[in-house]
Amino acid sequence: QRTDFINFFHEVIDRFEMNLSEDMKLQRDLPNEKYDVWVDKDKMVQVLDNIISNAIKYSPEGGTIRLQVSKQNRQLLVAVSDQGTGIPYDKVDRIFDRFYRADQARSRKLGGTGLGLAIAREIIEAHHGSIWAKSKEGKGTTILFTLPLVNKKRRGK
Ligand code: ATP
Ligand code: MG
Repeated sequence: QRTDFINFFHEVIDRFEMNLSEDMKLQRDLPNEKYDVWVDKDKMVQVLDNIISNAIKYSPEGGTIRLQVSKQNRQLLVAVSDQGTGIPYDKVDRIFDRFYRADQARSRKLGGTGLGLAIAREIIEAHHGSIWAKSKEGKGTTILFTLPLVNKKRRGK
């Protein structure tokens, strides 16, 4: 469906805010503009739910999760940054692999299958976008992805 991503993202974040523990804050850095993208909304909810719940899950001491959207050429760029455990630099590229979980011992305690980001990557790539991560161990993680913007001059399709 053709979707105003900013509006859609606000709704997803609203749901997280409703049952967030007191030590976590969500900081929205979303432009006050209409950014249209073609998305399967249910699938995109799955992507955002996993990225945001990872940010919360891997922030044992709480902190602020920053949610940013910007425009880069004809792409929408979404970034979700946390101040959590981070990921060792040599493992960052593997977090999108199926069943991969960094720091098995700690992760096992937190629960999960290690499929969330692999599914997120499949969904983003099916939408002709890309997804990657930046992280510093002990400092935090940023997950970024792009989606092609709808060409405004063209209508319908
Ligand atoms: P699932 O999402 O299937 O419940 P999961 O969260 O362990 O399980 P993924 O979402 O695929 O799996 O993430 C893979 C691994 O990447 C995680 O186990 C964790 O080690 C690491 N990871 C993902 N996001 C973060 C983050 N924000 N901070 C630190 N580590 C992360
Ligand atoms: Mg996950």
